[in-house]
Amino acid sequence: MIVVLSGGTGTPKLLAGMKDVYQEFSVVVNTAEDLWISGNKICPDIDSVIYALAGVIDEKKLWGIKDDTFITHLELKKLGFDEFMMIGDRDRATHIMRSELLRRGFTLKQATDKLRESFGVKQEIFPMSEEEVSTYILTDKGWMHFQFFWVKEKGEPEVYDIKIRGIEKAKPSMGLIETIKRSKAVIIGPSNPVTSINPILMVYGIKEAIRKKKTVIVSPIVGKKPLSGPAGKFLKALGYEVSPKGVIEFYGDLADLFVVHIGDKFRSETCEVVEENIVMKKREDAIRLSRAILELL
Ligand code: GDP
Repeated sequence: MIVVLSGGTGTPKLLAGMKDVYQEFSVVVNTAEDLWISGNKICPDIDSVIYALAGVIDEKKLWGIKDDTFITHLELKKLGFDEFMMIGDRDRATHIMRSELLRRGFTLKQATDKLRESFGVKQEIFPMSEEEVSTYILTDKGWMHFQFFWVKEKGEPEVYDIKIRGIEKAKPSMGLIETIKRSKAVIIGPSNPVTSINPILMVYGIKEAIRKKKTVIVSPIVGKKPLSGPAGKFLKALGYEVSPKGVIEFYGDLADLFVVHIGDKFRSETCEVVEENIVMKKREDAIRLSRAILELL
């Protein structure tokens, strides 16, 4: 069994392919981008992992459910309620079920189990933690929640700093550390190192458990740019180069193997660097990359 660490875009794309070649994996997911909107708890990264593994993710947007409608969202707007994220009707059903289960006393892990089972997903999905953790970005407009920065402000403000609020109190969700201990290897997927993977690594005990395992990191940066999202801006704000070299320096000595894009090879003193085609435009690309990673393991 392999453990995969995931955010909400790059790694879910990889997982959608991986499940076609190898089913024995569990996923540990970032919850530092979670928030309550319009009465419901949204876990954007958990939702994307469930939808990607269930084969229902909107592959164009890489979030939400394909062919969703937005009737409730538009109706709320008509009523004068500012729902700053566009939430689809089917996607909202997931959020309603999760929130109701939490109100009934389920843990987030238990609510996630119910949801992924309902979507027919066999792989276990662990929220990184039960405690509320929120990523805040210091911009030229002040501190703001990650989703505010990325969705409402379209990622445009200058970024000076990033803080993961509440992380010092976060404990790993039930069974997570035991699952890492039982695993043969850990894959850190191609996700934003600063706001998707680092919050997971900062949860008490997770990094130490991973250190004992063979760890493969897949670069989310190709050449000098991320393929999507604000990873470039964030790495730069923290003083790292926006390149695979900056990524591996950010992760310190965690990797045994680092998978970069063809032509991006550089020498690392801390790990072996392997070149592969890591750009996933279609499911077949994710299947091919998954096979290559599994062979390396
Ligand atoms: P978020 O939670 O929505 O921020 O998503 P993630 O952190 O999971 O993913 C964002 C990262 O995925 C970005 O840094 C992208 O560069 C990376 N990414 C997106 N698509 C691909 C891809 O096809 N290949 C690789 N290697 N990285 C990708």
